[in-house]
Parts: sequence; C-alpha cells; structure tokens
Amino acid sequence: GLPGTPPPVLAERRQTRQLQVGPVGVGSEHPVSVQSMTTTSTADINSTLQQIAELTASGCDIVRVACPTADDAQALPAIAQKSKIPVIADIHFQPKYVFAAIEAGCAGVRVNPGNIRKFDDQVAEIAQAAKDHGTPIRIGVNAGSLDKRLLEKHGKATPEALAESALWEASLFAEHDFHDLKISVKHNDPVVMVRAYELLAEQCDYPLHLGVTEAGPAFQGTVKSAVAFGALLRQGIGDTIRVSLSAPPVEEIKVGTQILQSLNLRPRKLEIVSCPSCGRAQVDVYKLADEVTAGLEGMEVPLRVAVMGCVVNGPGEAREADLGVASGNGKGQIFVKGEVIKTVPEAQIVETLIEEAMRIAEENGDV
Ligand code: SF4
Repeated sequence: GLPGTPPPVLAERRQTRQLQVGPVGVGSEHPVSVQSMTTTSTADINSTLQQIAELTASGCDIVRVACPTADDAQALPAIAQKSKIPVIADIHFQPKYVFAAIEAGCAGVRVNPGNIRKFDDQVAEIAQAAKDHGTPIRIGVNAGSLDKRLLEKHGKATPEALAESALWEASLFAEHDFHDLKISVKHNDPVVMVRAYELLAEQCDYPLHLGVTEAGPAFQGTVKSAVAFGALLRQGIGDTIRVSLSAPPVEEIKVGTQILQSLNLRPRKLEIVSCPSCGRAQVDVYKLADEVTAGLEGMEVPLRVAVMGCVVNGPGEAREADLGVASGNGKGQIFVKGEVIKTVPEAQIVETLIEEAMRIAEENGDV
C-alpha cells in the first residue's frame, strides 16, 4: 500500500463503550489488546513481578493475577504498583477480595458471577467501590462454573446460557449506574464460544474479552483460539484477547500477537514467508526457514523475508517480500525489493539474509 495507508482489515470494529484498564484503552476506539495470566503464586511478589516483566517484554498489554487467598490479596498493592503493565485481579468465590483488589490499585477486577455466592447482593457496594476508584470490572462467565440457576434452566452451558448469565450480571451493575464493564463468555468448544459472543454482541455494547477456555496444550490451544478469534474478529467482535494454553504465558502472548498481526489488527513485524517445500525443492526448506527465523529472532522491525525452495514460485514470492531467497542448483538468489542483488552458495544463504535484513532495518531507521 501507499505509505501512511493503513493495511486493509476484514471488518469494522463493533461499536462499543470505551473503558480504561490503567493506561490501556479497551473498546472499539482502541487497538485490540493482548492479555495473559501469571502462573506464579501471587503471594510470591518477586516471582510474580519477574513473570510480569517477561510478559511485558514479550508484548503483553494487560496481565491478570489470581487471588485465591488473603496472602495473595495482600500482595496486590506491591504488584499493582511495580508492574509496568496494568494488573487485573482475578477473583472467584470471595467478594471481600474484590474490595481488596480495588483498594490495592489494581487496574481492573475480574469476577465470575457463577461462583461468587451472594454476589448479587453485593453488587451495589462493589459498583460503588469500583466507581470511587475508577476501576473497570470484567464479568467473566465460564462454562465450567456457570451459575446454577442458568445451568438448570438451559440444561448445560449453551451459548444462550453463557450470554444470559453475563447479561444478567451486567444488568445488576447497570441498575447501580455502573457501566465500566467488559464481558467474557468462555467455553472450551470454539463453536459454542463463538455463538455465545455473537449473542452478546447483538445484545449489548460492552467491550468483549475473547477467550477459549481450557483450550489445551500449545498446538491444540493455538488452533482453537486462532479459529475462534478469527471467526469473531472477522465480524469486528472482540476488544481484548487472551489465548489460554497449557504452556508458559509468554507463549500465549506470542500466539495472541500473531493472531492480531495476521488480521492486520496490529502492525506486522518480522514475517517469514516460507514455502511448504515440495518435490521440486532443491534445498532443505525447513532447515533453511528455521535457521533464518532463528537468525532474525528478536528483530522487532516490519520486514517480510521470503524463503523459497526452488526457482518456480521462488522468485515471484521473493520479489513480493522485502527480502528473500530462491534456491536452486546449490545456490541462492538473494532478492531485495524485487531485485536480485546477488547469488551466493547455499552455505552462505542464511548469513547473507541476516546481513541484508540488518542493513534494510538500518536504512529504514528501524534499529
Ligand atoms: Fe515447491 Fe518451489 Fe513452491 Fe517451494 S517454492 S513449494 S519448492 S514449487
């Protein structure tokens, strides 16, 4: 595209209310943000802050910490103060920790209406405390802990039951003139999850936090989340996302970021366009792509690098990229902005690409 023209997206964002999670705006006027959750014991302040620092370095916008005990609640002020990104306290079962989190200066609180007993009775007080501190609240409905009344009414955690639970809870807050809410309705089945968010999107204008819960180990969870988020973001639905993986939280941020970059919802950085290889390949494409990826890892610059196994599609793709290689006959044709700048022996392909990538990044003032 022309310089300054934003890259095309698949859908206009669904219009929502806007809210602030600390400095991070959430809603249709703001970029879709990426979240994760720490796996440390929150009461262990140093370990938790260490993990938050790793998440921050990997591009996490908002971090959530669990708060199951009084020791965890006591750790919240220090964590909220020292974290470089906004901290949301995740509260189940105990309304008293909601107040503790708000007073601790957390940038947000997540509550689960399904498992906070007598929660409804305390909405007035919670709304008041949240209002006083300017703290937004996420109503986080989860299929595994759906409100008993709705479970009985619907028989199981259907999309309708999930949406109804969230909207009921939101209506209680609205009665107290509190609207600083975002909503999530998570399910481990992408089909149920997508439908539940579609129902919510039709019935309210609160920002939505997307998540497939218990999505599974990294591979399955990545696919489920990418498919489900893609189906929703395609409709402009989704204002903040969390990929849940049975893997270190930094991996969740990588996947979430990549999902948004794939849809042009955040600027693409380094992108390796490598071919799948086929019977025509004259070089070990997997190895070459891995080596180039490893060599360029950490380059936070917008750069498309094509790695192609032969000269059939190779030159074409390599020309479309900022930089590329098309292999053949034990050699690599190195392309920069569509021009073959040199041909090097196979053994020098990786180092040449890395050199050229650095040079381009410098020229563009990206490093
Ligand atoms: Fe096969 Fe060449 Fe296409 Fe790679 S670029 S998939 S080797 S035809």
